[in-house]
Order: sequence, then C-alpha cells, then structure tokens
Amino acid sequence: MAKRDYYEVLGVAKGATQEEIKKAYRKLAIQFHPDKNPGDKAAEEKFKEATEAYEVLSDTEKRTRYDQFGFAGVDPSAGGGGGGFGSAAFRDFEDLFGGFGDIFGSFFGSRGGNSGSNRGSDLRYDLEIDFKEAVFGTKTEITYNRNAPCSVCNGSGGEAGSRSKVCPTCQGSGQVRRSSGFFSIAQPCSTCGGEGHIIEKPCRACRGSGLEKQQVKRTIEVPAGIEQGKKIRITGLGEAAPNAGQPGDLYVAIHVREHDSFERNGNDLYCMIPVTIVQAALGTEVNVTTLDDKKIKLKVPAGTQNGKMFRIKEAGVPYLHMNGKRGDLYIKIHVEVPTSLSGKSKELLSQLGEQIGENLEPKPIRLSQIS
Ligand SMILES: [Zn+2]
Ligand SMILES: [Zn+2]
Repeated sequence: MAKRDYYEVLGVAKGATQEEIKKAYRKLAIQFHPDKNPGDKAAEEKFKEATEAYEVLSDTEKRTRYDQFGFAGVDPSAGGGGGGFGSAAFRDFEDLFGGFGDIFGSFFGSRGGNSGSNRGSDLRYDLEIDFKEAVFGTKTEITYNRNAPCSVCNGSGGEAGSRSKVCPTCQGSGQVRRSSGFFSIAQPCSTCGGEGHIIEKPCRACRGSGLEKQQVKRTIEVPAGIEQGKKIRITGLGEAAPNAGQPGDLYVAIHVREHDSFERNGNDLYCMIPVTIVQAALGTEVNVTTLDDKKIKLKVPAGTQNGKMFRIKEAGVPYLHMNGKRGDLYIKIHVEVPTSLSGKSKELLSQLGEQIGENLEPKPIRLSQIS
C-alpha cells in the first residue's frame, strides 16, 4: 500500500507551524482513537497513520529530513533515534492516551522495552523520644527487620558463576500481551517478574530472590530541635531490591512525649509559674529551673497581673542544624487566688479589702484589652 504524504495525512500545509500540526493531530487522534472505535480496522489504520505523521512532523530534525528525502529520510526501520513510533505522541498527548499508553507498544512495537524501576520499598520506623531529647538531640539504637541483599550471592540471586538468560516466557521484553479486541494490553511477565531475564542457576540460600531477612541494629542520631511528626531519612536502609537493585530508604518517624512543665511552639518554649496574690501585688523574685536545668532568677515586679508573660531570650529550642541559635522561653504568671484561708488570713484580707475599697459596679471590658 502506498504511503500517503505526512502533510496530507494531517491535513496541514507544507509550511504549517508546530501549533497547527499539534492541533491537527489532536483532532484526528480523538476521532480515530482505538478506545472510541473498538473493532474498527479502518479507524485503527488512520490512527496509526496520523500518529506516524505526527511523530515526524513534530520533530524539527525528522521533519527536515522528511522534507528533503521523503519517507527514506525518516524510515523508522532504518534504526537510529530509537523509541519507535508513538513515544512523542504519547508524551505530547498524555491526556488523550491516559491509561492507554500501551496501545503504542502494541501498534508500533518497541517502546523502549523494559527499563524496570527495580527499587526496594521504603520502610518506616516509629521512634518515641522524650521532650528534652527532641529539644537537645539524642542518639538512640533502633532494631528492625528488613530484606537485605542475600549474603551468599551478594543479592544477584544466582549461584556463583551462574549467568542470567533471556526469559523464555516473554523473550526478554518483560511483558506479556493479553489480547483484548484488536489491540492488546501489556502486563508484566510473571515468570521473570518483568525483568526480561531469569537466572540460570538460582542461589540456593535465597532461592533466586537475592534477598535475605536481616535484623538491623543501628544508632540513630536525632538532631537537636527536631519536631513531633518529622521524619529522618536514612538512605539505603529500607528493603533491598531483588536482583541487586537499588535499596529503599528508612524513614524514622519522630514521636515526642509530653513534658510535665514545658510546652513547645516552634522554637519557643512555654511554661507557667504560679505566684500568690501577695507576690503579684508586692513584687517578688522567683527561681525558675529551665529545661536545660539552669537556675534563673525571674523578677516579678509589683503589680504584675495574672497572665503576664515574661520572655527569657535564647532559653528555648535550638534551631535545627543551626549551631547555637535558639528560640526563647516564655514564662506566664499565674496568680493563684487562695482557696482555703485560716481565720487570721481571712481577717487580714478583709482589712485589706476595706482599705482598697470594692467596686460593686465594675464596667465590663473587652477580652482583648487584657494582655
Ligand atoms: Zn542468594
Ligand atoms: Zn519474562
């Protein structure tokens, strides 16, 4: 059958712009898409024809060769370029082809074959640490199980000296095709697990999987300043991949236990210090032990209101991976109203009450006015 000129196939002029070519192909691809025309041989042919034309005309280099030498300049069977037909159209119109990328494989053959992303799974380890450990950092040993490369065959899965051979089921493509109407769907080959090759003599220790169970003991360094929910990634300590592929990573998820006295917000620490009404009224100096066990003297001036916040600079949480820089410590004053008073105290307070007077018609104030 004589081939139609690519420009004619797409219905565009010789000097058409890339935009026009793209538009023309899109229209045809939608019209003749095999998904829309099941069992229609003519539509399938048109679809293939348009795709081939698009492959050439959308590629400046191929288009130039085609303009100069005709089909001879772009014959896909002449080698070079690689990828075969369908890849550019699939790349440019993925929306059209969505889950049907494989139609190109079955129509045009050789879409790069099996490159097999052979990577082991990532693992997660949940590590619970103390509040203080999270703030100042810690080292801790963890123990977990993973699939490691088989120590007998070094993960290759084969006996010493054993070579791999092309998988007889899929002839090395790593895929088997299941026919469904006029086009077929590719599935990973189960004999070789999609690898395209199998081992002649499987390793007896791991039965060819290349894997063995391993208990990993590892000291984890938790950096100062780490926050609840953060994960530490340890490259390569996840599951090993079969056939000596790239291992996955280990993610250590950090859970921080609550502290009796301190809370955290970002890099700042918060705590509350109770004082009596007398201390608040007359002023006082209290000793506060910070999270790093330092004793500081906090001066509470006379007339300090309940809820007043004091800031101790740089007594907070170290910034992650920033040497020395720390957040602040905020101390909130909690004025405690006595709940049980002896006769004498009651008397003294009553006298005080008379002295300062009582406002029996206080004017309400907005919450936001109290700091
Ligand atoms: Zn082995
Ligand atoms: Zn196979």
